[in-house]
Amino acid sequence: MSSYVDEIIEQVIKQNPSEPEFHQAVREVLESIRVVIEANEEKFRRDALLERLVNPERQIKFRVPWIDDNGDVHVNTGYRVQFNSAIGPYKGGLRLHPSVNLGIIKFLGFEQIFKNSLTGLPIGGGKGGSDFDPKGKSDREVMRFCQAFMTELCKYIGADTDVPAGDIGTGGREIGYMFGQYKKIRGLFEGVLTGKGLTYGGSLARTEATGYGLLYIVEELFKSHGADIAGKTVVVSGAGNVAIYAIQKAQQLGAKVVTCSDSTGWVYDPEGIDVAALKQIKEVDRARLTEYKKYRPNSEYHEGRGVWAVKCDIALPCATQNELDVEDAVLLVENGVTAVCEGANMPTTEEATKYLQNNGVWFIPGKAANAGGVATSALEMSQNSERLSWTFEEVDAKLKNIMVNLYHNIDDAAKKYGFEGNYVVGANIAGFEKVLDAMNAQGIV
Ligand code: GLU
Repeated sequence: MSSYVDEIIEQVIKQNPSEPEFHQAVREVLESIRVVIEANEEKFRRDALLERLVNPERQIKFRVPWIDDNGDVHVNTGYRVQFNSAIGPYKGGLRLHPSVNLGIIKFLGFEQIFKNSLTGLPIGGGKGGSDFDPKGKSDREVMRFCQAFMTELCKYIGADTDVPAGDIGTGGREIGYMFGQYKKIRGLFEGVLTGKGLTYGGSLARTEATGYGLLYIVEELFKSHGADIAGKTVVVSGAGNVAIYAIQKAQQLGAKVVTCSDSTGWVYDPEGIDVAALKQIKEVDRARLTEYKKYRPNSEYHEGRGVWAVKCDIALPCATQNELDVEDAVLLVENGVTAVCEGANMPTTEEATKYLQNNGVWFIPGKAANAGGVATSALEMSQNSERLSWTFEEVDAKLKNIMVNLYHNIDDAAKKYGFEGNYVVGANIAGFEKVLDAMNAQGIV
């Protein structure tokens, strides 16, 4: 008899064709929780536990018609996958990117279940988005798209049911337009989205949270190995919200970050990336990294990809899924990398992850390392519920505490099951155990 885990992996592949990222995420999680499942296989089979875990509670797919500045109509597809509400209301971002399809949203929603569990806060897993490309659109076009998107999405979300937030392509501007439309249609001023502006219910430190949280866990990882990140060389990919604040916090902690990248090229700055310049280019001008040289004449700009070939102690992939493959992993190891910690969701391929782990690299997966963003979203929800705003220092201290605890939680879980130092297994088991307990307690629903 083949194992329950193997049967479910096979079933997921068969029942969800053409969704390779979803297969990858399921395979990675189920392989790592195999020890927990096999210890209780009969009961879990009887309860169809894994079938319930890998099938979203609900998936919504809708049409988003919007009008461009010339009066022409465009139709995009919108998604919201409400994956698992065992431990709290669905929570997770909205990705706006031309690559978005149901499989990508399902992989992200599935990962979100375990990530949200690891934060220690009461939030379930969900994800949404659209294949709309905000790049090159005018501000008014983005606004009309966001309004059309929310006109449909508002039927399925609410402060106590499902609370979306940002992700790739969805930042403060988009959240603002979506919030305005939700309020207009539903007539409710409530904490239905996180990542809101500070004047209408947003939380201080939410913007910085994913990047800062990533560095807090890296700091704790080094500390627990008797090392320090001060003086280390760091390579970062990406130039969005996660990358920008990861670079900023790494510099505050005394490390030197020498790269960042966008969809067309990458920058090498031997003196350390200038965060103010990066913010101006990416957040204010919404331009390409080719502009960076104007601010820093001694830096280099290269077309294409290439950051993983740069010698470093710490590599932080902060761009998108499967951006770091096994050839990159080989280069990193050859160049003596100590740690790879994921700021993006699943940026390292399965093969690359195994290669790094087998070569003694400390590897922390995204569902642990980038959990600071959604954790601070949950803190925004708390502030909205009590109609108060906490100071930056208060939120930042809570975020740091969450990341330090999260590190020890995944480290302990790995040790408990005989996988010391394997933070992938540790994160999946620790995230799963809480969800399992809640699912068992609530009966077959
Ligand atoms: N999109 C982020 C993530 O991948 C944040 C989600 C949230 O704040 O709800 O976790």
